[in-house]
Amino acid sequence: MRRSRIEQNVKIKLPLMATDKYDIIIIGAGHNGLIAATYLAKAGKRVLILEANGEIGGATASVRAFPDFDARLSRYSYLVSLLPDQIVRDLGLNFKTISRRVASYTPFHHHGIDQGLYVSRIWDETTSTSFNALQGGGIEAMAWQKFYGEIEAFAQRLAPSLLKPLPTRSELKSQIGLAPVWDYLIENPIGEVITNTFRSDIVRGVVLTDALIGTYVSAFSMQANKCFLYHLIGNGNGEWKVPAGGMGALVQELERVAKSSGVSIKVNSRATKVQSDGKEICVTLEDGNTIYGKYLLSNAAPQVLAKLQGVKPPESLEGSQLKINMLLKQLPRLKSGINPHDAFAGTFHINESFTQLELAYQQAQSGKIPSRLPLEMYCHTLTDPSILSAELQHKGYHTLTLFGLHTPAALFDRNHDEQRKAAMGAAIQSLNEYLIDPIESVLARSSTGELAMEVKTPLDIEAAIGLPRGNIFHRDLDFPFREDDEALGWGVETDDPRIFICGAGAKRGGGVSGIPGHNAAMAVLAKG
Ligand SMILES: Cc1cc2nc3c(=O)[nH]c(=O)nc-3n(C[C@H](O)[C@H](O)[C@H](O)COP(=O)(O)OP(=O)(O)OC[C@H]3O[C@@H](n4cnc5c(N)ncnc54)[C@H](O)[C@@H]3O)c2cc1C
Repeated sequence: MRRSRIEQNVKIKLPLMATDKYDIIIIGAGHNGLIAATYLAKAGKRVLILEANGEIGGATASVRAFPDFDARLSRYSYLVSLLPDQIVRDLGLNFKTISRRVASYTPFHHHGIDQGLYVSRIWDETTSTSFNALQGGGIEAMAWQKFYGEIEAFAQRLAPSLLKPLPTRSELKSQIGLAPVWDYLIENPIGEVITNTFRSDIVRGVVLTDALIGTYVSAFSMQANKCFLYHLIGNGNGEWKVPAGGMGALVQELERVAKSSGVSIKVNSRATKVQSDGKEICVTLEDGNTIYGKYLLSNAAPQVLAKLQGVKPPESLEGSQLKINMLLKQLPRLKSGINPHDAFAGTFHINESFTQLELAYQQAQSGKIPSRLPLEMYCHTLTDPSILSAELQHKGYHTLTLFGLHTPAALFDRNHDEQRKAAMGAAIQSLNEYLIDPIESVLARSSTGELAMEVKTPLDIEAAIGLPRGNIFHRDLDFPFREDDEALGWGVETDDPRIFICGAGAKRGGGVSGIPGHNAAMAVLAKG
């Protein structure tokens, strides 16, 4: 491992004139920074959070995206699975998530007929019937229930380890048992596992999507396994739930508990430099002011921290998602005939068969926006209308969240505005293929006639909240264990013993989880 300047005992002189001193300085007020801060303040530490933006929350913000309408949409992240109930209890958060009735709906054409695969959250008659309509559907239904049953048993045994020091590979493997499941989740490419387990291209694709959300790889890359795992282990069951009141409700609660525990939060305070002499940390702000702390936690991505320290940033895949937020006057009708209140209540998959996902990846790799853009959507307001004003609820308005896959940052480096428009066009075309009412016909319009639709590319997301190249997990996800010869820790350590990662870029980070925030706080508290 590379030795830091601290370990090499190189003398570093910090700037003089310390104006302000804290036990812990946290760079970034994303949900993880807020969670780390609150644990530390509750333990009696003096904590300061520095946030570059005027608003806190990072990727967990809710915004009134369309000023003419009183609707607060989750601008970036939108569903919660990974946030452990333990963190909600420990911090006394008044934050609820709501189960969705429907797991997913996948429309497809077969011999010129519009059909769809409907999967209820809890297996039921309608789901069985839907599987039975597929060729070989009975066998597929059994394979599905067995596969997800095994993964849930695995998740139940794995989840409690996430808020403890990082186990070694062999410790975790023996704690979990279930060797065949370990083998197919951790040791073999998930693309192979899926193709060996399922026969239908549609079913294979629905399963595969969890391995590709926010991860720009082929189904056969081991990186896809890591992504798949994190999508299925949250709270031991991997259920993705709707945040009541939108993601902003989580941020509001985190701000409340942080401030009432004594945390200071400074917004519009971008850190531009981090220096450490092994005993103290000095953070320089954009306005030239310096702040001192005994420890530093970075909620900003590891690549950002490296730049602040003046060292080489770690390598990572780039972000590859297209996020589109919409406000509708009413839900569109579907060609397959399913009630839109069922189709959009869960995850609505488009162009996400296994073959389509692999083809889209290849097209993106060759520098093109995928011709049939894979995307998934869901309607927040079918489960939780509280993000709309009473008037909009009464009028029957709904929100739609669209998350497109395989649109990597590199596609937008040149002619960003044009490419954003092209990607948006591909998304609308893909969606409209399955709708009776084209989406444009049901979108709300502002008083000046603009459609209530906002589009965010990876580059837009980097510019707004600093996710490197728009990577939604800050950097590549990692398995939730250390190798047997790696040092004991929480997965949040850096080369400098006074600097920790408390954000998504830590091991066991990524997603709306608070896990790296909790773990970084524990790592600091263990130092005394
Ligand atoms: C479009 C999109 C959709 C997603 N959907 C989901 C989802 O549905 N469910 C899910 O679980 N996850 C989802 N994710 C991922 C998830 O939102 C993130 O992984 C997670 O929120 C990261 O949280 P964080 O607190 O670690 O960091 P962030 O939320 O990234 O916060 C970091 C903060 O640090 C600040 N910062 C950066 N640099 C500096 C600096 N130099 N000085 C001061 N402050 C700085 C930033 O402004 C930001 O506020 C999504 C992400 C995106 C972008």
